[in-house]
This record gives sequence, C-alpha cells and structure tokens, in this order.
Amino acid sequence: MTTQLDHLPVAVIGAGPVGLAAAAHLADRGIAFLVLEAGDSPAAAVRQWGHVRLFSPWRYNIDAVAARLLTDAGWVRPDDDKLPTGAQLAADYLQPLADLPALKPHVRYDARVTAVTRLGLDRVRTTGRAETPYLIRLANGEEVLARAVIDASGTWGTPNVLGASGIPAHGETEATAYVESALPDVLGRDRDRFAGRRTLVVGAGHSAANTLLNLAELAEQEPGTTVTWAIRAATPARTYGGETADTLPARGALGTRLREHVESGAITLLTGFSVQAVTAGPDGVEVSDGTRTITADRIVGATGFRPDHGIVGELRLDLDPIMGSTRALAPLIDPNEHSCGTVPPHGADELTHPEPGYYAIGVKSYGRAPTFLLATGYEQARSVVAALDGDWAAARDVQLDLPETGVCNSSQDLDSDTIDAGGGCCGAPAAVEPVSVGRGLATGVSGGLLRTPLAVITVPSGNDEQSGCCS
Ligand SMILES: Cc1cc2nc3c(=O)[nH]c(=O)nc-3n(C[C@H](O)[C@H](O)[C@H](O)COP(=O)(O)OP(=O)(O)OC[C@H]3O[C@@H](n4cnc5c(N)ncnc54)[C@H](O)[C@@H]3O)c2cc1C
Repeated sequence: MTTQLDHLPVAVIGAGPVGLAAAAHLADRGIAFLVLEAGDSPAAAVRQWGHVRLFSPWRYNIDAVAARLLTDAGWVRPDDDKLPTGAQLAADYLQPLADLPALKPHVRYDARVTAVTRLGLDRVRTTGRAETPYLIRLANGEEVLARAVIDASGTWGTPNVLGASGIPAHGETEATAYVESALPDVLGRDRDRFAGRRTLVVGAGHSAANTLLNLAELAEQEPGTTVTWAIRAATPARTYGGETADTLPARGALGTRLREHVESGAITLLTGFSVQAVTAGPDGVEVSDGTRTITADRIVGATGFRPDHGIVGELRLDLDPIMGSTRALAPLIDPNEHSCGTVPPHGADELTHPEPGYYAIGVKSYGRAPTFLLATGYEQARSVVAALDGDWAAARDVQLDLPETGVCNSSQDLDSDTIDAGGGCCGAPAAVEPVSVGRGLATGVSGGLLRTPLAVITVPSGNDEQSGCCS
C-alpha cells in the first residue's frame, strides 16, 4: 500500500561529512533525498577548522559507499595513511562527493533549517502521526515536505560556555567581544588578534590543545605574545592523553608536545581554575575563579559543544537527561565511563526516537559527549539509511573497522601529514593496521574522559541568612 509519504524525499539536514555520507547511502539505495545545508558550500563547519590537522588518517575519514561512488566517477583516493587537515578533508573528499551527479542536484546550500514538525500536527497530536509528512521550515520562510528526516546538523554552531557550572559565568554574555570560539586560526587568518597579545585558553580537550600549540608557536615568532591555559581539573593528564599509548599517533603527539611547552614555561598552566566571572577591565579582560584573576586580551573558549535540539522541539524526542543523545546511546558514549576507545558500534536501533522517521546522526547524535569519531558517524548513516529502506538486517548488522589498540608513535610531527610506521609503542609492529572489531577506537586513556576529579568550588563562608540567594 502506498501512502502520501512514499512520494516525498528523505530530508538530510547538514552537508557535513556525516550528512553527505547519508546522502551517498540514500543515492546508492535509490531513495529520493534532499540535503539542506546552511552554508554556501559543503562541509561548512569543517572548513571553519580547516587549518587543523585531523588525528585520524584518511582511511578512517572516508565513508565506504561514498568512496565507491567517487571512485566510479574517476576520483583518486587520497593516501590512506596520511592525515588531512580539515581544509583537505573538505577539498579532496567532501566537495567532490557533494559534486557527484548522483548528489549535486539534491543538495541545497544557503538553506538553514529553523524548524521541523509534522504537517498540520503539533507535538501533542497522535492520530495519523506516522503517516503525516514532515514539514521543514527554512530561514527564508520556505517550507519543504519530507517522508523522514536525518538530522546531521552537528554541534559547531552551539559551543559550550566558559562558566564552570554550565551556564554563562558572571559577565560572560557582556564580554563576548573578548571571547573567541574554539580553534581560531592563530597562525593564519586570525593571527592579528593574537600576535603580541595575552591569550587565555579555557578547556581541556583536543581543541584546547591544538590552539595552545599554535599559540606557543606564535609566541616564538611574535614578542609580547603570552599564553595561559586554565583547566578545571587538578591535573592536565587527560589532555596529555595516551601520549605514546595512543592508537592514533597524531593525537598522542599532540599531548606530548603540549606537556613539553607547559614544562618549559612557554604555556602557563592554571589547574583547578573554574571560571566564575568575566569582566572587561582597564587593562583587558579579567577572568576570575573566585580567588585568582587573570588579565588577558583574548579568551579562547575551548570548552566543547552542545547540540541544539531547538529546531526539532516540536518532535517527540526521547533524550537522555544527561547526554542529550537518545537514551539507548547514552550509556555507550558517556564520557564519565568511556573514551572514544570504548564506544561500541551502533546504528538505527540505538538512534531511534519516539518520532518515527526522525534520526539525529553524526556529532549531534552524541549530544554533549565528546567521544565522536567520523567512522562511527558513517556507520550510523549506513544503518539509518538501511532502516529507512526497510532493510533491517543491514540496519542491525553494525560494525566498525578501526585501528588496532596500542599501535602508536610518540615522535609524530604534527606539521607532517605522514604517519611514521616505525617505533610503535607496546611492541606493536606497524602503525594503524586496521582490524575489524566490534568495538570503538582505543585512545590509550583508560576509564572515562571525565574521570579526572575537578577542584571543588567552595561556598563562600558567612553565607547565612543575611547573604541569601539574591544578595
Ligand atoms: C578540530 C576538530 C578535529 C577533529 N578531528 C577528527 C578526527 O581526526 N577524526 C575523527 O573521526 N573525528 C574528528 N573530529 C570530530 C568529528 O568527526 C567532526 O566534528 C565532524 O565534522 C562531524 O561531522 P558531522 O557531519 O556530524 O557535523 P559537521 O561537520 O558539524 O556538519 C554539520 C553541517 O550541518 C550544517 N548545519 C548546521 N545547522 C544547520 C541547520 N540548522 N540547517 C542546515 N544546515 C545546518 C553545518 O553548516 C555543517 O555543514 C574533529 C572535530 C573537530 C572540531
């Protein structure tokens, strides 16, 4: 029996790596689709961090079906063992993918989705819901109908705040002129804002590490450039990461180089620093944790990202109260328990919401968990498209092809795009030999990413009846 839905396309929100992978799988299965991308070209978010080198080599950054479609069209696959920058990922893989004849006519740019609902039904109405088309509204007011929605809109547009408690620090909203989002191009297009200036980097992830290393390099070239790094934890061990025990050599090398800069004094590290207040002062911006105050010219907020569920607020979502992913996925990706290394493969079953036909995939699907990898996103895309095609056997046959645990190289040069296969730790013979495993990627960091204890913020004494909540 055909329904009104059968004549409608599947809408994919976002032409990032995972949205385009979904498009490739939809094209491959002959399912009508439409990709709606807010930017004016594919990979708009990836291009923003184009100056950053990925820590995983090409072989883990390319979707298998996308590669087949591209190869059939004469594409020359990049060297599997090389590490692309974000710009290269966009130029050498994602742009050609979006330009394939099977995809191009179905990808719309400058098409920002502002809301998704069901045609004529609000969230409360149940009768006939599953057979009712999705209504997608764009920023220009245009509306598009779809039979299903794959939301691959990422999290790049919604960075976390500086405030340690998850809400803006006092004064943070007023001090936005001093605050940079994660990963400014401090050695390139954004150099002038940092050269000869005092920069405070807040955060403990790989984005912070990347920016700190670039700032340390800038400080060697530009007198007066200083770099301060504030983290909530009592130790930077998590940022240094697996170092020589990291499966991905580039990621391990990042931690090693950062530690060396801190030990040499090129980067001033403040541990146990929870941002409480940000104030514009006469000599720059003052950032305080209640007891210490740092004065800087620029603040780089590298505190991670969070999903924006606002555009799908009229759909029936079953979100985990902590992670903001689906409930089924949350325990698999919880950074209190997992690093990327222990995230198992997952697909349509774990990504299903009560709203039939709506799936968030890609980095957005992880909510606030920072453990996402492209390879996992491509497997999500494959599984979800199979499910939309009614091919549940394929949808449930989830697997990942990731590097062998413990293979690494501590001397990886971050400016180099080549993985040195020799000298792996743990007696491993060669770098990144892929093995088919039913598990995720090992990082060399045991336990969860957020296991590191934070300094406890003490309640000011004398907080009695005369200094109540609003005083
Ligand atoms: C610096 C950095 C380095 C990384 N390195 C690696 C690595 O080495 N290996 C790895 O596996 N992973 C890496 N990741 C993690 C992850 O793979 C990337 O974040 C990846 O870009 C996620 O892909 P995505 O398609 O889910 O989202 P995105 O790349 O963020 O794409 C989302 C797309 O949706 C569009 N969009 C957003 N909102 C809307 C809207 N409302 N309407 C329409 N379009 C919209 C955006 O413009 C964007 O094009 C890295 C991430 C960062 C930030």
